[in-house]
Amino acid sequence: MNKWVYMFTEGNANMRELLGGKGANLAEMTNLGLPVPQGFTITTEACTQYYEDGQAINDEIMGQIMEAITKMEAITGKKFGDKENPLLVSVRSGARASMPGMMDTILNLGLNEEVVEVLSAKSGNPRWAWDCYRRFIQMYSDVVMEVGKKYFEELIDKMKEEKGVTQDVELNADDLHELANQFKAEYKEKIGVDFPTDPKEQLMGAIKAVFRSWDNPRANVYRRDNDIPYSWGTAVNVQMMAFGNMGETSGTGVAFTRDPATGEKHLMGEFLMNAQGEDVVAGVRTPQKIDQLKEVMPEVYEQFVGICHTLEDHYRDMQDMEFTIEDRHLYMLQTRNGKRTAQAALKIACDLVDEGMITEEKAVAMIDPRNLDTLLHPQFDQAALKAAVPVGKALGASPGAACGKIVFSADDAKEWAARGEKVVLVRLETSPEDIEGMKAAQGILTVRGGMTSHAAVVARGMGTCCVSGCGDIVMDEANKRFTLAGKEYHEGDEISIDGTTGNIYAGIIPTVDATIAGEFGRIMGWADKYRVLKVRTNADTPADAKKARELGAEGIGLCRTEHMFFGEGRIDAFREMICSETVEEREAALAKILPYQQGDFEKLYEALEGTPVTIRFLDPPLHEFVPTEEEDIEKLAAAQGKSVETIKGIIQGLHEFNPMMGHRGCRLPVTYPEIAVMQTRAVIRAAINVQKAHPDWTIVPEIMIPLVGEIKELKYVKKFVVETADAEIAASGIDLKYEVGTMIEIPRACLTADEIATEADFFCFGTNDLTQMCFGFSRDDAGKFLDAYYEAKILESDPFAKLDQKGVGKLMDMAIQLGKPVNPNLHIGICGEHGGDPSSVEFCHKIGLDYVSCSPFRVPIARLAAAQAAIADK
Ligand code: PEP
Ligand code: MG
Repeated sequence: MNKWVYMFTEGNANMRELLGGKGANLAEMTNLGLPVPQGFTITTEACTQYYEDGQAINDEIMGQIMEAITKMEAITGKKFGDKENPLLVSVRSGARASMPGMMDTILNLGLNEEVVEVLSAKSGNPRWAWDCYRRFIQMYSDVVMEVGKKYFEELIDKMKEEKGVTQDVELNADDLHELANQFKAEYKEKIGVDFPTDPKEQLMGAIKAVFRSWDNPRANVYRRDNDIPYSWGTAVNVQMMAFGNMGETSGTGVAFTRDPATGEKHLMGEFLMNAQGEDVVAGVRTPQKIDQLKEVMPEVYEQFVGICHTLEDHYRDMQDMEFTIEDRHLYMLQTRNGKRTAQAALKIACDLVDEGMITEEKAVAMIDPRNLDTLLHPQFDQAALKAAVPVGKALGASPGAACGKIVFSADDAKEWAARGEKVVLVRLETSPEDIEGMKAAQGILTVRGGMTSHAAVVARGMGTCCVSGCGDIVMDEANKRFTLAGKEYHEGDEISIDGTTGNIYAGIIPTVDATIAGEFGRIMGWADKYRVLKVRTNADTPADAKKARELGAEGIGLCRTEHMFFGEGRIDAFREMICSETVEEREAALAKILPYQQGDFEKLYEALEGTPVTIRFLDPPLHEFVPTEEEDIEKLAAAQGKSVETIKGIIQGLHEFNPMMGHRGCRLPVTYPEIAVMQTRAVIRAAINVQKAHPDWTIVPEIMIPLVGEIKELKYVKKFVVETADAEIAASGIDLKYEVGTMIEIPRACLTADEIATEADFFCFGTNDLTQMCFGFSRDDAGKFLDAYYEAKILESDPFAKLDQKGVGKLMDMAIQLGKPVNPNLHIGICGEHGGDPSSVEFCHKIGLDYVSCSPFRVPIARLAAAQAAIADK
């Protein structure tokens, strides 16, 4: 028989997978001898079972719950529904990872008319007894039966109006009794049956409601944002009530052992006398600072401070605690490692090391890598953000916060920014010609596109905030306006976007700049000491490369050479190349491109100071580069000495139904080898020049051929590369080694990796395309239907952001297993967007990659995640 229920006396802190964080810690506090109202925890496995049984609690679980009630009654000396000493309980959720405010809680369970009378007589405080009852009916109706809060609030307001009072506390026992009756009538009207009086029936309803709340929409979104698997389930804690609302000798509060905003070491918190937990949160009355408890109840304060020390020493981390004082008796209701800002997380980790409480490894392990984003990008002012209500939500594609005036074209963004305006660029989608406008904007908002769309990839590279794929926007670019949530926005209107959460706000929310405190460097230093994976960057410009070096990149894992043509002037030569009709025309365009490329590569080699640089040959999905504006088409026609009609004809001929699977990657040099020849020249000449300038560096160019799926493709293109490179090196008179490798981004490349590895010096997983082709989801369009997939529980997260380890990961593992034995020197990395995602980095460590490569601002995240993977492996 499975054990589904544990008394607090049976568990401990190591059982959080089974008991959830709250349950495991209640058990641990019980073991430590702290004053914890006793009770039991129904396991997370029971939650999973509840769903497997079609949202029902089976007989075995039910039986164990009933047994636990009997034990609880024995421990507390109180009984459900008793006329002498009735037991009242709270029912709270508690998942493995804390999900504050996401799931449901029910207090004061066990009350009915008779029990209220007993409590009223026993306590001599009828007001309190009736207040508890009306609260319980309200909470139960809302949470368990989903009647909705508003009907009850209306009844309270009506009662206050009739009595001529403004505050709840001004209602007397009779008023509250009357309210309880009204609430029950409301319940009967809405549900059709009487409010349950049997405490056991109430309890089963509440337990089911907590299980159900695991699947509520806000919990689902929170889990996706925080990488918490649906399969974990939540535990349910049933605990004897301690009453903070029994009068002026009772109260309730929350406290942190250190400041969760700054990390400073001092007790922080708030409490309210004569109140229950929800009053502190609801803000009906202003709570007092925890220090004031010293005056109100000195002995309780002393005891509480002692418990805080005990808990922090025990858990060796900052604790976030909830407590209740019932008639001068202190009860601990919860402790957990407190949520904190990134800044505080770094300070607390360093301080704990300095205090001798934890090791460096533990310090590295306790920082959430995703949190580091907030240290590197501007953020919204927290107080202003709290007061703001989002008008829309889409993908948080590139973190940070931005606010400014809406502009609808890249040119306007540039122009407005030049005259000192802060702008947010709002587009249907972005394309390479928008690059300068994207740079000039504070943030970018797009209607279409997913996590690997042009806007997302480029914005992340630049470190600019971006929210992508907001399908709710009805866009009218031509008239410079759009509609969102029923409101029309025009050019110049103010808007704020949050690239971390994907939230969109009307108006300006002030931002604060990122500040990197001293502790950041210390933690990163420790991370570097323990990690095995190298961390490179995806950078296409010397400026990005320099930024990435500052943030700790150990090389370039991907330079997308087509991105080097985004700038003004250069795009023209690039378009000439794409729209050439003959070899001669193409060679003429390539000759224009060569010096740009060579110059850029030289600057990249300089910026990287002898560390590895992988240059990927052209891989332009043509639709991103062909001109669409009349003006650009005319310019191209003039440059090529052709008519506008001819150019339009060529562009039409280039049209592809499926450009992502079209004439791109190695298919280009297979058709036009002269492209590979030009790029090889540029790479090798740049390397030779920089090697000559820096004899102490060892430059080993890494040339990467994209979208290979068949060994003969690689062999064919490589022949041109090798011939050209060898000739250049021979002519230079210096001894330069170089490598030719390939991206592994087509499933067939994984399946035939044993063949491909015979020709490749290295593999680099392009998991953007590999995900696209493994799922058959278009990277640019998947955002449109992924929400339906989350809703239907087909997927839990965006596979373009978080690696699908089961499918795509299996292909990667297969490629490694097939490739390494035939080429033991093969080095292997990843340069898809997953290279900067913590759980994906952990996977890359596990399958034995040599490096991950990610956009510059994600380099610290990858360093930390790589260290955590190595530490967890020990
Ligand atoms: C990839 O496909 O993962 C990759 C890095 O290449 P790109 O995003 O440029 O297609
Ligand atoms: Mg690719």
